[in-house]
Amino acid sequence: MEKAVLKHLLGIEGAEIADLRIEEGAVIVYVATPREGIRCPYCGSSHVRLQGSKIREIKSLPYGETPVLIRLRVHRMECYECGKHPQEQFSFVDPGVHHTKLLEVQSARDCMGMTIKDAAQRNGLRWHSVRNALRNRLQESVRRIDLSGIRRIAVDEIYVARRVFMTVVLDLDTHSVVHVVEGQGRDALRCFFADARDHGARIEAVAMDMSPPTVMR
Ligand SMILES: [Zn+2]
Repeated sequence: MEKAVLKHLLGIEGAEIADLRIEEGAVIVYVATPREGIRCPYCGSSHVRLQGSKIREIKSLPYGETPVLIRLRVHRMECYECGKHPQEQFSFVDPGVHHTKLLEVQSARDCMGMTIKDAAQRNGLRWHSVRNALRNRLQESVRRIDLSGIRRIAVDEIYVARRVFMTVVLDLDTHSVVHVVEGQGRDALRCFFADARDHGARIEAVAMDMSPPTVMR
């Protein structure tokens, strides 16, 4: 397969595939940024001095039953422009995370038709990674919602697992989910009411359990 096609399938941007291997039944993709493409993540300057590198192992979308791992070379640098000493950053994986954003999106999508546990198993991820991916995706999708026309809402707290609660706000007129946040009680709702106020919403009715942690003034 052409490296350019594989890059596209794996969601790799700004770096190049240097090598491909099969090791212990997994596809290993070696990825690094060419010297001329390395930029300071703070100011975007290419006027940097490299100070070594390390390899990060990142899980990518599996190819059928075959795991795909990216061995990513991450450069350290000194930036002559802003004076900082950052590590190289990549658009397709968040710092400190061991799987690609594409795999995160796919595992969250899988949760629409299966349990978090099954989605985790299918994608070779931990349960809490998929739970976080699902939460991020839901929060991202509701962040774009225009709240200005909301008048009547319902609030529910859902027990997910391991003492984790999610608070969900539903627009009772459109039956759409308009807010999802991890946690429960008034703290979980403050952010929604602040957003609703910013959008100019005039909420007239709230349907909810009147449990003490949730009652707000
Ligand atoms: Zn800089």
